[in-house]
Amino acid sequence: MFGKRKYGCGKCGSSFKDRDELLKHADEMHNKITTYICITCDEEFNSESAFRLHMARDHRI
Ligand SMILES: [Zn+2]
Ligand SMILES: [Zn+2]
Repeated sequence: MFGKRKYGCGKCGSSFKDRDELLKHADEMHNKITTYICITCDEEFNSESAFRLHMARDHRI
């Protein structure tokens, strides 16, 4: 199943289907400046823990 992309790069708008893809992208392209964007509701987070908490709490993922 594709289609549900939950990890977005806040620098260039690219989206990824898993965290490792995003981290690898941010590492290579943006010098590890990583922003997490919830594709479901467009909220932005600057830390993984905040992002995960949001997903768990608001989307139950
Ligand atoms: Zn990017
Ligand atoms: Zn959300």
